[in-house]
Amino acid sequence: MYPKVQMFIAGEWTDGTSGKSEDILNPATGQPIGKTPHASRQDLDRALEAAKAGFEIWRKTSPFDRYKLMRKAADIIRSRAAEIAPVMTMEQGKPVVEAQGETMLAGDLIDWFSEEARRAYGRIVPPRMGNVSQLVTKEPVGPVTAFTPWNFPINQAVRKISAALAAGCSIIVKGPEETPASCMELVRAYADAGIPAGVVQLVFGVPSEVSEYLIPHPIIRKISFTGSTAVGKHLAALAGLHMKRVTMELGGHAPAIVFADADLDNAAKILSANKFRNAGQVCVSPTRFLVHESVYQPFVDKFVAAAKSLKVGNGLDKDTRMGPLANPRRVDAMEGLVSDAVQRGAKVQAGGKRIGNEGFFFEPTVITDVPRDARIMNEEPFGPLAPITSFRSYDEVVAEANRLPYGLAAYAYTTSTKTMQAIGSDIESGMVSINHHGLALPEVPFGGIKDSGYGSEGGLEAIEGYLNTKFVTQASA
Ligand code: NAD
Repeated sequence: MYPKVQMFIAGEWTDGTSGKSEDILNPATGQPIGKTPHASRQDLDRALEAAKAGFEIWRKTSPFDRYKLMRKAADIIRSRAAEIAPVMTMEQGKPVVEAQGETMLAGDLIDWFSEEARRAYGRIVPPRMGNVSQLVTKEPVGPVTAFTPWNFPINQAVRKISAALAAGCSIIVKGPEETPASCMELVRAYADAGIPAGVVQLVFGVPSEVSEYLIPHPIIRKISFTGSTAVGKHLAALAGLHMKRVTMELGGHAPAIVFADADLDNAAKILSANKFRNAGQVCVSPTRFLVHESVYQPFVDKFVAAAKSLKVGNGLDKDTRMGPLANPRRVDAMEGLVSDAVQRGAKVQAGGKRIGNEGFFFEPTVITDVPRDARIMNEEPFGPLAPITSFRSYDEVVAEANRLPYGLAAYAYTTSTKTMQAIGSDIESGMVSINHHGLALPEVPFGGIKDSGYGSEGGLEAIEGYLNTKFVTQASA
């Protein structure tokens, strides 16, 4: 059963006062399954006042007590994963096994952040005079507002909420209107764990209206956003105008380089699994496949076989390996990118078309002989498209990998230690994963450079983003 979606403001579940809402569509059928309520200005004001009051309580709650409540939330979300997963599948489309994995990972993320925040140490700086002590301390930045997207409705929200809470901040999440229920269940886990009213809140609305009201608001001290580069730049500019701290997790166009000496079976298996995971709607999805000319054809053959063997269907069916795209905008985008590439001479080796007229399905697609100026080689596809091209030399492939303004994730496959070391340093990217897909664990940094944003959503660096550094110096009286 798909639950009734509500907002969580000042410790209460509410429909809000605007009377406005929007339909939630099941991407496997295209049919409405519920409604997302929209917050009115009055609802947002109530959330802001509650965030202010919640912050005063939470900042004074010791990291040890915060840890105890957060650990409880982690246990709750894990215990509900089997019920939450099909709800996420109904609204987002991903196979239920992926939805369950995402929900369980939320427990790991909450655990890790709650534990690590107990170690948000300051330091003592040796003074120049004997009667002076110099203290560097860490304090929470204040109430935060976070904007989270529809591709990972729990994961994108739990990273922001947990880092904020661990640091001692309160947070208002503007959740994803198209996939609201699983994000709501995440917030329910914190609420049921006994996190005080106003510390975690959830609202929905017209994204631009909510962000334009919350970001400049004097109560809000920090903004965290996950979404497209275009929107991220707009929100970062607004935050800058009001001198607010910002974490931006934006788009990517990950190069996946396969060198001549790579273990081809391993490379094709891992890269194809990650290309089509969540139907390619992943910011770190491998995108530009750059394969050495000497192994190009065998790699293409293995990758095409993997794409053709994928069972596409309703994510609720047990044997489905790839679900529909999350919304009709993505299907239109895939059609546009494929037809542009074909017009420029590319060859479709697998897929290339939408599937049926019901729901938002698109075939796992492999395209070869793609010229550099094709849109797919320059724009983030955010869908199940894999363009594969060949290269000759190390310098050529590094130049291609670094050509775009994005810099989120990059992948490389090689058995040479020398190449591993060189590629790890030569790629302009926030994350480089070599010979495996090793990203997104709670304890490691997660974030980009260049147009992919700044700040981190994992590891120690994620908590830093929610802390101010304060210097206190005192001379003995
Ligand atoms: P979009 O650019 O309109 O929206 C992307 C996200 O930003 C959504 O969650 C949306 O609610 C939010 N958003 C949009 N305008 C906003 C505003 N003014 N204030 C606050 N939030 C705002 O496009 P879309 O069709 O939803 O998604 C398409 C593109 O977004 C994809 O191609 C991809 O590049 C990017 N995207 C990235 C991620 C990620 O994990 N980095 C997640 C979702 C979408």
